[in-house]
Amino acid sequence: MQTKNLTGKHLIGGKFCGTGGRFRGVDPASGAALEPAFCEAGTSEVNKALELADKAFDFLQTVPVTKIAALLERIAQGLEAEGAAIIARAHQETALPVERLRSELARTAGQARTFAALARGGSWAQARIDHALPGRKPLPKPDIRTVFMGVGPVVVFGASNFPLAISVAGTDTVAAFAARCPVVVKGHPAHPGTCELVARVIAKAIDRAGLPPGMFSMLQASGYEAGLALVNHPLTAAVAFTGSLQGGRALFDAAAARPEPIPVYAEMGSVNPVFILPGAAAAGADKIAEGLVRSLNTGVGQFCTSPGMALAVDGPSFKKLLAAICARAAYIPPAAMLHAGMQAAYDRGTKRLASIPGVKLAGAGAAGAPGAGGTKMASCRIFTADAALLSVRPELSEEVFGPSIIIFRCRDMAQLHDAARRMRGSLTATIHGTKSELLKHGGLVRALQRRAGRILFNGFPTGLEPCASLHHGGPYPATTHSFFTSVGTAAIYRYVRPVCFQGFPDPALPEELRAANPRRLRRLVDGELI
Ligand code: NAP
Repeated sequence: MQTKNLTGKHLIGGKFCGTGGRFRGVDPASGAALEPAFCEAGTSEVNKALELADKAFDFLQTVPVTKIAALLERIAQGLEAEGAAIIARAHQETALPVERLRSELARTAGQARTFAALARGGSWAQARIDHALPGRKPLPKPDIRTVFMGVGPVVVFGASNFPLAISVAGTDTVAAFAARCPVVVKGHPAHPGTCELVARVIAKAIDRAGLPPGMFSMLQASGYEAGLALVNHPLTAAVAFTGSLQGGRALFDAAAARPEPIPVYAEMGSVNPVFILPGAAAAGADKIAEGLVRSLNTGVGQFCTSPGMALAVDGPSFKKLLAAICARAAYIPPAAMLHAGMQAAYDRGTKRLASIPGVKLAGAGAAGAPGAGGTKMASCRIFTADAALLSVRPELSEEVFGPSIIIFRCRDMAQLHDAARRMRGSLTATIHGTKSELLKHGGLVRALQRRAGRILFNGFPTGLEPCASLHHGGPYPATTHSFFTSVGTAAIYRYVRPVCFQGFPDPALPEELRAANPRRLRRLVDGELI
């Protein structure tokens, strides 16, 4: 089936280009190849996209902020206007339910509007001003002013599991635009048609906003060469990536090996452990089991925040909890994953877990038929093991992407604390307990503060609220830089750096640092936030 008007080409600086389709999107539910065939980007497309982006970067530094904000608002409107076609193609290419894609599109448009408001507000740039003190003794103090400014062209690798919210027009792209940075997206080969439709919305919005078309390009590619060429290109200033640990690490290493290394903000593997304290297990096993199984199976377990391990203290309440989890899992039907590679990785991962001595398969999802055309489906898997195994089999703490979880049986609270201290870096960690248990186990919270980016109490890790106070990041291997978030307004700080101006005459300063402050930006002036 062909989506009307798809060209299968790259979109470079507002123009479709490329010849000779080489790869196709695939319907994961049926295994059927979709029309049209898509071009494969090579060195000339990479060079062209980055040269245009570099030229556009200079221009963007002089553009009024209202134009940037208007662009982001137009992107949001365009996504909504083209929503039906985008969702239909995304559904074909990912097998994600239409309802889920509708809410993802709404989130994507919402993120663009949030960054428009951020850009318009301007206070995110954290202007700092220290006025000169020419009469200071023994030495005069110079006039010093600093503000965050865009770093240059940003390369974005979209995620397969969020074909809208973390892809062509996702947070990575809109945050970079808000920072006045041009963007070159490497489209994810698992949803190339969706990438083209969304890229068109962005190109049209740029045209209508009267901004340089070179500020955005989207290259189609199904192999590693184009992505590595983008990272290695001397005009690339920063990279955003969401995907596997192997992919993120390869790009991070390539960027570090460049003659001029650049930052790679990669969001990768995360096991998102859930610690269930005895009081909570005794009082609310059924409720916790229900929430945990739902969270684990959200998006067929293909969320970066999916809970991959849970830990509780052995005893009657542990048995009750495990039985409740397995009982609920048994109702979950098998479902298609995002692409055949993802399904193969899930099969390998669950087989590897099942082969580890001491790990037992305690429960599984409902039986179901394969998809149309005999395609494989992912079935929920509940494993159980002794927490003692964690110290001898560190691979038990590695992410298995998909709807599987290991429930670890801890001898006592000391062993549960020890497991928290050994945990690998994670996007999230969750504690279920009573309020008094939480207060009593401050040591557990302190251990998790060192290992996770977001700590939840009596909640479940899937489902993100992209707001100013969200931190979606964490210590390696969850990300390559735990200071930064890839969702929420603080994501803008990945694409800026402070630039300091000393002794500049007022009219030559960036607008944020001038004496007049018509936008009423909040600034740190002579040590005072005003
Ligand atoms: P992926 O394999 O990491 O691919 C993501 C993007 O990075 C693709 O565009 C891919 O290019 C590129 N890439 C991967 N390895 C590369 C390398 N060595 N050099 C250059 N470019 C490279 O992720 P995926 O296809 O979305 O899913 C595969 C696995 O990633 C999953 O099974 C899961 O384990 C993990 N994953 C994790 C998250 C998370 O949020 N933690 C999200 C999605 C996926 P090409 O495909 O064009 O080669």
